[in-house]
Amino acid sequence: MHTLQKQFEREINETVEACGAAALRQYVTSQGGNLSWRVGPDRVLITPTKMNKGKIRFDDVLIVGADSRVLFAAEKREPTGEVRIHLGIYAKRPDIVSIIHAHPTWLTAFALSKPELLQMPWLPEPVIEVGPVALTEYAQPLTEDLARKFDPVIMRHNAFLMRNHGAVVLCREGLSRCFELLEMLETSAKSVAIAQMIGGATPLSREAVKGLAETLRARNARLPGAPGEVKDLADLY
Ligand SMILES: [Zn+2]
Repeated sequence: MHTLQKQFEREINETVEACGAAALRQYVTSQGGNLSWRVGPDRVLITPTKMNKGKIRFDDVLIVGADSRVLFAAEKREPTGEVRIHLGIYAKRPDIVSIIHAHPTWLTAFALSKPELLQMPWLPEPVIEVGPVALTEYAQPLTEDLARKFDPVIMRHNAFLMRNHGAVVLCREGLSRCFELLEMLETSAKSVAIAQMIGGATPLSREAVKGLAETLRARNARLPGAPGEVKDLADLY
């Protein structure tokens, strides 16, 4: 085992688990999706390009520096082509520890139809734990242009729908927690979509959102976005 692998053994194992869970839930199919975990100021664990996430094993997880130079890679592995999105987000958001980009069915359906709906407050837990899901406009995958589409919204949000593409979730803890947040957003999106099919979903009232914002203040909990960017949760809705 490489010394860097030894140093980050627990985090690499958790990354492999998150990859497997994402594949099992079909949040990623074929070679889609990518996951990363900032384990130090100049150390990012990241998934390799051109691999099914369900097949990723311990040695497949790469370690890159903040400038994307590869610090560890098993033979023939290269980082995901979306490494620029991940490193760009880490550079702008020092509070973020892990990132998942995936194509979960229900979130992606909103990215294809009415992404603005997921900027509304529907359910208390996603409002408290993630906040509104911001929209990033379409750009071709694997380009610098796609990474730049996050610029207008990156400082005030922790979750994103990528138009006609998929979703990105940011987390202040490791990948296991990041996966939980993605799972919560996906099931919420499913509930909202089904409610719309049944006859129309009703969002939380302004008063209800203010109540949730009050709860966060009382708990001294972190708000979405970079530290200090968002003063009040209710301002985001
Ligand atoms: Zn994608």
